[in-house]
Amino acid sequence: MIDRACVSINNTCNLYCRYCNFRQTGVIVEEEGLTSEDIETVIKNILDYAHKSGLPKFKLGIVGTGEPFLDFDKIYTAINCAVRHDTMEIFAFYVITNGTLVDDKKLDFFYEHRKRVTLNFSLDGYEELHNYGKAAYKETLAGITLYEKCFKEKPVINCTVNRQTLIHREAVLSWFEGMGFEKINFSELIDVDDDDLRITHGEFLDFLRFVAGRGTIVFRQNRSKKKYDCRTYGQLCGVGRTNIFITKQGIYPCCRFYKKEEYRLSDFDEKLDTVEADMKRSLTPVNDGECYFNRHILKEGF
Ligand code: SF4
Ligand code: SF4
Repeated sequence: MIDRACVSINNTCNLYCRYCNFRQTGVIVEEEGLTSEDIETVIKNILDYAHKSGLPKFKLGIVGTGEPFLDFDKIYTAINCAVRHDTMEIFAFYVITNGTLVDDKKLDFFYEHRKRVTLNFSLDGYEELHNYGKAAYKETLAGITLYEKCFKEKPVINCTVNRQTLIHREAVLSWFEGMGFEKINFSELIDVDDDDLRITHGEFLDFLRFVAGRGTIVFRQNRSKKKYDCRTYGQLCGVGRTNIFITKQGIYPCCRFYKKEEYRLSDFDEKLDTVEADMKRSLTPVNDGECYFNRHILKEGF
């Protein structure tokens, strides 16, 4: 059953982070993204599928190969479309931003819809560490400060774990704790070859165990619960089972397959029961603990 998707509303970003796999692989090319009309079609297709399948919840990330706040009108369209049609409140939205384009008006919109949508900020830690692989620490923190003024609480943080995080793990976790960030989604840096940044999946899992041992941070990865989503979040690979990645160029098994035409499942506006049937025919899920992309594209086996 498909119960989660990421929708990439655009394909452009205002930053040039060193470790960005979309920048490194040339995926961000400023091409046409989904229009507001396309987004309404996507939202309605998901709702139809959820109703037919009896799904109580559908997790939809407005996150893709670019910075979503550059096309805020499309975020607005997606959420408003859900408000109009999702009477059973099936959608659980989340948006991940680099935080540099946040303003009071946009935050007011998120605050108004806070029961349906969570706004997450990408932040890798203190200034030196954040700017090592990413960029614009000061602007990101300014955006977070505005969020805190509006919501009267800390936002959820998305932290990408790379070699520098592991080297400085004590310092970075102490910094997050000192700043009062209690909810952090850690994700594994992938598709970057630089020795000073890349890590193995085993090292990432070790890091998660280290965080769990401190008991100070609530993080999305709950290893005791078997969950199919993505291994880079410390869960099991959902390709061929639970996940899809929706873009103007088509629907793919996950973001790493974007523009790999042999893995393209359908047009973006295809009905999801058809997408699911095609997905089951063409993709055999990997074993628990494996990554489909690593096994079948990189031929790494694990
Ligand atoms: S903000 Fe995100 S999408 Fe933009 S360059 Fe940095 S890592 Fe890539
Ligand atoms: S193929 Fe790999 S990157 Fe894609 S969802 Fe599965 S674990 Fe995640």
